[in-house]
Amino acid sequence: MPRGKRTVFMMTCKVSGNRIGTIRLHRQNSRGVSWKDFKREKYCSVCRKKVEVKLKEEKHSS
Ligand SMILES: [Zn+2]
Repeated sequence: MPRGKRTVFMMTCKVSGNRIGTIRLHRQNSRGVSWKDFKREKYCSVCRKKVEVKLKEEKHSS
């Protein structure tokens, strides 16, 4: 994979599995931090509160 290419990740709620949205991230940022260590809290409409999101790489067929 070429350097600098960004990947689309799907954000889902860790608790309910509800799909919250998508985010584009480099697989590894400039500080060498992997996307796996990316932490973010988002509002989940199912849980009705801010939850820690789980990232999952979105596969593209095209
Ligand atoms: Zn939720």
